[in-house]
Amino acid sequence: MSTDTVIEPRAPKVGIVSLGCPKALVDSERIITSLRAEGYQIAPDYAGADLVLVNTCGFLDSARAESLDAIGEAMAANGKVIVTGCLGAEPEVIRAAHPHVLAITGPQQYESVMAAVHEAAPPVHDPYVDLVPPQGVRLTPRHYAYLKISEGCNNRCSFCIIPKLRGDLVSRPARHVLLEAEKLVAAGVKELLVISQDTSAYGVDISYAGSDWRGQERAARLYDLADALGELGVWTRLHYVYPYPSVDKVVELMAAGRVLPYLDIPFQHASPKVLKAMRRPGNQEKTLNRIKAWRAICPDIALRSTFIVGFPGETEDDFAMLLDWLEEARLDRVGSFTYENVVHAPSRDLADHVPEEVKQDRQARLMALQARISAEKLAEKVGRRIEVLVDSSDGATAVARAKWDAPEIDGRVLIEDGEGLKAGDLVEVTVTASDAHDLTARRQVRKARFADRLRS
Ligand code: SF4
Repeated sequence: MSTDTVIEPRAPKVGIVSLGCPKALVDSERIITSLRAEGYQIAPDYAGADLVLVNTCGFLDSARAESLDAIGEAMAANGKVIVTGCLGAEPEVIRAAHPHVLAITGPQQYESVMAAVHEAAPPVHDPYVDLVPPQGVRLTPRHYAYLKISEGCNNRCSFCIIPKLRGDLVSRPARHVLLEAEKLVAAGVKELLVISQDTSAYGVDISYAGSDWRGQERAARLYDLADALGELGVWTRLHYVYPYPSVDKVVELMAAGRVLPYLDIPFQHASPKVLKAMRRPGNQEKTLNRIKAWRAICPDIALRSTFIVGFPGETEDDFAMLLDWLEEARLDRVGSFTYENVVHAPSRDLADHVPEEVKQDRQARLMALQARISAEKLAEKVGRRIEVLVDSSDGATAVARAKWDAPEIDGRVLIEDGEGLKAGDLVEVTVTASDAHDLTARRQVRKARFADRLRS
C-alpha cells in the first residue's frame, strides 16, 4: 500500500501596499480583484507574502518620497517587490533608489502588473472555487465604495503631472459605471463616491455617447449619470467637480434629493493672477455668483474645496484676496496644501517662489479662518433632525456622517446614544452640539435638556 502524501499546491500569497488618492485605491481594488479571480491569496503582512506589490503615488514630492520609502521597506522585509501606480511612470527614479525590484509598471497597467505577478509567483489553478464576489474586492469598508467614472485629464494645471502620468481623459461608458454601481449596491454598499480627475468633464472624450441601462439609453454626461445613480436608492456623492455652468443642473438633482447635496470642487485659489499662473479655468467673481446660484437652487448644499497656498508669485495681496474670497464664499469644508515643487511640473520654472516659512504661516492663517467659518456653519445645524450613516460603533457610542460629510476627509457626527448601531446603518438623529469640525447628536433627545435650556 502506498503511503505517499498528496501535497495540494498552495495558492501564492501577494502582499499589497496601496498609497495615494482614492483613484489609486480603486486601481488597487481592481488588481486585487484580478489576483483573487486567479486564485491568489492576499497576505496580511510581509512575512507571509510570496511577493509584495506596491501601488505608488507620484503627485507631490512628499508622496514620491513616501512611495520610495514604502518600496524600500517592502524590499527589506520581503525582497520580492513589484511596483505599479503613478510613480511607476518614472522607472528610472525607482531603479535609482531600488535597483532590485522585480518589475515596474505605470498607472492602470493592470495586464502588465498581472504578467509580472505570474512570472514571480505563477498562479495555482483551482477550477472548483470562485474566489471573487461579483462586486470585486474592495479596500473600503463594506458600506461605502468609490466609483471611478474616467481616467486621465484634459486639463494642464501647471503644478500637476497627473496628465503626464495618466494621460488624457478616457471616460467609461455610462452602462459600465452603472452596472458596477448596481453590483456594489447589491453587495450592501450604502454610499457611492463618484471620483475621477475632472468629474464634470465626464463623457467629453466620447461625445457623451449613450449606452443602455435598465432598458433606457443613458448618456455619458454627469447630469444623466447622476440622475441614473439616483435610481439606486443609496447615497451618491460627487467629488472633483469643476464649476462649469452645466453643474447648475446637477445641483437641481441635489435639491430633488436624487444625489447628496454635496459638491467637492478644487478651487485651488481666488486670485486671478495666481489662477492664471496655475493655468486653472475660472474667475473668482463668476465663481462666487455660481456658488450663490447653487445655494438658491439647493439651500442645504455643502461645498468642499481644496486650496494651494504659497504658489510661486503669490504675494501677500493675492493671499489676502483668497482670505476675503473665503469669507464671502463661506465654504463648508476646506483642505489646504502648501505648494510643493513637484519634479517635471511646469510651475517649477515660475519666478518668485515663496519661502517655506511664509507658506506655513499662510496655511495656518487660512485654516484658522476656515475653522471659524466652519464652527459658525456647524452651530447653525444644532437642533436639526438629520439622517446619518454609521461608520463605526463601540457598542455605546457610534461615529457617523451626515450627507454633508465625505469619509476620511470631512467631519463626523458622534451619536451619544448609539447602542446597537453598526456600520452601514442609516438613522435619524437630532444634532445637540457642534465644534469647529464635528457634530454631536442623539437618537432620543431627552426632553429635560430642552426644558432646562428654556428655563436657563
Ligand atoms: S484638473 Fe489639473 S490638477 Fe486636476 S488632474 Fe487635471 S491637470 Fe491635474
